[in-house]
Amino acid sequence: RVKNEGKGSAAFFDASMEREAQARMKVEQSLRLAILEKRFCCAFQAKVDIRTQDIKGIEALVRLRDDAGVIQAPDTFINLAVELGLIDELTHLVLAEIVKSIDLINETFGPGATISINVAAKQAGKPEFMRPFAAAIEATGYPERFMIEVTEDAFVTKTHFQDQILPIFRKIGVRISIDDFGIGYSSLSALADITADEIKIDRSFITDIHKRPRSQGILRAIESLSEALGMTVIAEGIETFEELAYLQAATKIRYAQGYYFSRPIFLEELKPAIPLASAARASPASRPPQEN
Ligand code: C2E
Ligand code: MG
Ligand code: MG
Ligand code: MG
Repeated sequence: RVKNEGKGSAAFFDASMEREAQARMKVEQSLRLAILEKRFCCAFQAKVDIRTQDIKGIEALVRLRDDAGVIQAPDTFINLAVELGLIDELTHLVLAEIVKSIDLINETFGPGATISINVAAKQAGKPEFMRPFAAAIEATGYPERFMIEVTEDAFVTKTHFQDQILPIFRKIGVRISIDDFGIGYSSLSALADITADEIKIDRSFITDIHKRPRSQGILRAIESLSEALGMTVIAEGIETFEELAYLQAATKIRYAQGYYFSRPIFLEELKPAIPLASAARASPASRPPQEN
């Protein structure tokens, strides 16, 4: 009896595993095809000076259009793209998209806004990607406009990111930002060994910050350490007035990013007659068209 049951469940397991493998292959194929066919676009989200409402910079956030024409957020495909070795190509496509849209970017966000590109931690440690990528940024003719965002893992894992790759970007004027700080594997003390220009405090510490004394403490610690190390602090994921009010009243943090100021937006959605900068100044809580 036991033997039979075992066989039966093994057969069942095989079938479901096969279905899973097939589903996965389909996802892989559609990702390969989407990248091959360049079915992607970038949404841009503002980094805002919370004292003046000025736009300090923007972050490019990639989206893919799947076979059915549905726009997919990066959480559904970035890890897979890394696994399949497609992320390098995708990152180059993001840069190309920015270069193509630079006039509209300048018109919308201002010619001084920094332009951030996310680089996966795995890519960041690979000289064979990062060297040509730095060269491509330099070839734009305005490398000093760019910033790359890398999670803290890239700094603490044993790669040549910090000692060999970072200096290449520094030299051409590209700035470095530590993304999602506080949720990775590094400790606060590891910050002391990291050379970066900007540190982005992860959204999980910002949500309801005005009601969470522990997050407030962590924020203070990150803030004073960053100040001592000469890094700009930016708070990610501000969604409410209360969160913003806390930052303004209780911290010296000057920059923030979040739905409260602006959702990531597609440039083609914007009417050039109403640049985001002036719209945001008139009414900080106003929301530009939401992405779907
Ligand atoms: P990230 O770099 O930390 O980007 C911030 C994410 O938080 C974005 O999600 C953004 O839309 C979202 N966000 C911004 N403000 C708020 C807010 O107030 N509330 C909430 N709930 N969310 C907010 P998105 O666009 O889905 O991107 C997710 C992640 O995918 C990014 O996290 C980044 O790690 C990765 N990613 C995006 N584009 C690229 C890319 O071109 N290359 C690589 N390697 N990764 C990318
Ligand atoms: Mg980012
Ligand atoms: Mg982030
Ligand atoms: Mg993130």
